[in-house]
Amino acid sequence: MAKWVYTFGDGKAEGDAGMKNLLGGKGANLAEMSNLGLPVPPGFTISTDVCTHYYAHERTYPEELKGQVETALAHVGKLTGRVFGDAANPLLVSVRSGARASMPGMMDTVLNLGLNDETVEALAKQAGDRRFALDSYRRFITMYSDVVLEVGHHHFEDILEEHKERKNYQLDTDLTADDWAQLIVKYKAAVKRELGKDFPQDPKEQLWGAIGAVFGSWMNARAIKYRELNDIPASWGTAVNVQAMVFGNLGETSATGVAFTRNPSTGAKELYGEFLINAQGEDVVAGIRTPQDITEAAKIAAGSDKPSMEKAMPEAYAELVRIYGALEKHYRDMQDMEFTVESGKLWMLQTRNGKRTTKAALRIAVDLASEGLISRAEAVQRIEPASLDQLLHPTIDPKAPRTIIATGLPASPGAAAGAIVFSSDEAEEAKKQGRKVILVRVETSPEDIHGMHAAEGILTTRGGMTSHAAVVARGMGKPCVSGAGSIRVDYAKQTLTAMGKTLNKGDAITIDGGTGQVLLGEAPMQEPELSGEFAQLMEWADGARRMKVRANADTPLDAATARKFGAEGIGLCRTEHMFFEGDRIVAVREMILSDDEKGRRAALAKLLPMQRSDFAKLFEIMHGLPVTIRLLDPPLHEFLPHTDAEIAEVSKAMGASPEKLKARAHELHEFNPMLGFRGCRLAIAYPEIAEMQARAIFEAAVEAAKKTGEPVVPEVMVPLVMTKPEFDLVKDRIDAMAAAVAKETGAKVEYQVGTMIELPRACLMAGEIAQSAEFFSFGTNDLTQTTLGISRDDAASFLGPYTAKGIIPADPFVTIDQEGVGALVKLAVKGGQATRPKIKLGICGEHGGDPASIVFCESAGLDYVSCSPYRAPIARLSAAQAALGKLKEKDA
Ligand code: PEP
Ligand code: MG
Repeated sequence: MAKWVYTFGDGKAEGDAGMKNLLGGKGANLAEMSNLGLPVPPGFTISTDVCTHYYAHERTYPEELKGQVETALAHVGKLTGRVFGDAANPLLVSVRSGARASMPGMMDTVLNLGLNDETVEALAKQAGDRRFALDSYRRFITMYSDVVLEVGHHHFEDILEEHKERKNYQLDTDLTADDWAQLIVKYKAAVKRELGKDFPQDPKEQLWGAIGAVFGSWMNARAIKYRELNDIPASWGTAVNVQAMVFGNLGETSATGVAFTRNPSTGAKELYGEFLINAQGEDVVAGIRTPQDITEAAKIAAGSDKPSMEKAMPEAYAELVRIYGALEKHYRDMQDMEFTVESGKLWMLQTRNGKRTTKAALRIAVDLASEGLISRAEAVQRIEPASLDQLLHPTIDPKAPRTIIATGLPASPGAAAGAIVFSSDEAEEAKKQGRKVILVRVETSPEDIHGMHAAEGILTTRGGMTSHAAVVARGMGKPCVSGAGSIRVDYAKQTLTAMGKTLNKGDAITIDGGTGQVLLGEAPMQEPELSGEFAQLMEWADGARRMKVRANADTPLDAATARKFGAEGIGLCRTEHMFFEGDRIVAVREMILSDDEKGRRAALAKLLPMQRSDFAKLFEIMHGLPVTIRLLDPPLHEFLPHTDAEIAEVSKAMGASPEKLKARAHELHEFNPMLGFRGCRLAIAYPEIAEMQARAIFEAAVEAAKKTGEPVVPEVMVPLVMTKPEFDLVKDRIDAMAAAVAKETGAKVEYQVGTMIELPRACLMAGEIAQSAEFFSFGTNDLTQTTLGISRDDAASFLGPYTAKGIIPADPFVTIDQEGVGALVKLAVKGGQATRPKIKLGICGEHGGDPASIVFCESAGLDYVSCSPYRAPIARLSAAQAALGKLKEKDA
């Protein structure tokens, strides 16, 4: 016979903590605490299999369930010396939901179930306290009506308020037994009025009603939404826990409370929590009365005038201290506990691994390792890499109120506040005047780099997680919200409209790049603090990982940041980002608008010294660490002048007529530039560009090596390669330039020439390409775009429904599509290694900073990942966890 029900209590249980999938988190831990001999009120868990069955069979239960619940109820009755439904000696129970992962949004708790007009008298008699019994009954009626019968709380609150007003009472505790008796009559009448039938008096009917409500709540809208946001499959189902009641509202020697074994916001080792004397569970949460501190130290620190549990209930407190020590030792993690004290005796109602801030998580992991409770490797595995973001950027003060006007994509973490500006020039101007601004654009382009630099943060209404704004902002470490589609920007009127509100240039907004929220006004911020535990944990992580971590860095500032955050080299320097700086853009435009090689060479000669000094600075900062410099990649289209003023500027510099330049710009205009005249295609058509860049790289390497005394081994990278002959042509030019510079300077620079692997064809032909290429760096942004045929700039508009409907597990531009793109990466690794066994392999697409993708990179055998400087710590930790073979566990 299938088993659907598992009992616990009295030092024994049919389940244990390892059975979370079947018993849910709460049920498994109640069983575990019973097995440990801790004081747990006896009860039973109806397994998650019943939930699955319920939904697979048109909301019906398995046949054996009824009998098994009755047997379990009898067992609990035996342990407590009571009988469920008995008029003289009733067993009362609580009914709680409990999924594998804790899940707000579901039905939570019904207490005092089993009370009716008859059993309430028995309870009064047994407790010797009629008021207590009636108080418990009215709580049951309101709770049960609310969560099972769907007769909302407000019906009862109105009745209670009216009564209190009439009697001139302030607090619920002012009500007498007779008051509650009168109210119960009114409560029941309200239920009858709302439902057209009586409040159920039969305890069995009550119980099955509550069980049905728990299972029903698994599919309510809030629970579905929560699962969607947290990747929890609907197939998991919830369990139901039925447990003998213990009463915290049985007078002054009774209480109820919640406690953490360590401080969940700082991680400090102290019992942290609150409790209420003469109260039931929901009073603590409801905030009707102010709870009291558990320890005397916390009470003194808070300046509270109410006694601590330590003073008011010394025995129960001592028991709690004993138990919390035992639980931490047993679970080897910080616990979040619920307890009740009934007439001086402590009962444990729940324990689970406690939620905590990242700061606390670091401290707790490091402390637990230092205390010998867990190993250093486990400490490293305990920290969610993405959560480190919280520490590395300023964030909005969690206590501050938020007026959200729109939500876009959390494109680059951290929060920023400032006045709205709609153009990059204005952002730059404002910065010069010392004003803080948020740059608001429909989308950004390479021409906005200066504005993005100047702004505190960037908000775009279009574009996804790998749109220009997102990639550049992450690289700069600037907060960015992208694709906030509900905002309308009107450049002409200089306004933005969101949720019916129109804001003007100069109005203050705050963006939260960690959540994608856009807030009205300037929110207060918290500065990042890299505590000792952070450094300690990162040191342990570095010791555990195999892959190296490099940064995508284009500027000296990026490079310095990269080193600060522990990057071990530069995996991608996008040279085009240097082309927009200062007045270089004029020379760049001169180069691309020239219609012959001579003209291009003249413009390139102007760019050479600037590039050389850029590279020299990078090499110096990186001090001998590897630096990969990529030749010019973006479509020429992106550099074209747009306005008459821009054309006039170039025309003056070149001595060519504006008409001629306009015509040339028109020729270079592309409809699909990302698949157009870009990447190594530029070097094939205009080899002199690659030559200038190669010369700048080698001359800079000589210069920097002289300065630092560390030899520089530049890695020159060719973008968007699809065939070996294409790569060879470019490589020949680079090699020739290396030889020329060596001859001119008398200094021979060691270097490597490799390629981006970012086209499916390159993956397929990797073996052949590796005959010439000395390293591969996977450009998974373009590889995702070209493999899936999805534009990286425009995908946001339709990817949402794809992830929501489960067609794809995640945004493929954020987390690598392992099955498709990943298969191509593995194929290229195999091909490359077959030709060149020691070929250096890295990744420099955005996936290089994504924890799940980094796990993939470890399995694909890459040598390093390269990500934005600010993500380097996340990548270091992810790489360590990947190496330690962390099995991602969703269960709390
Ligand atoms: C890539 O395509 O993954 C890459 C790193 O290059 P970019 O984003 O500059 O196209
Ligand atoms: Mg690319």
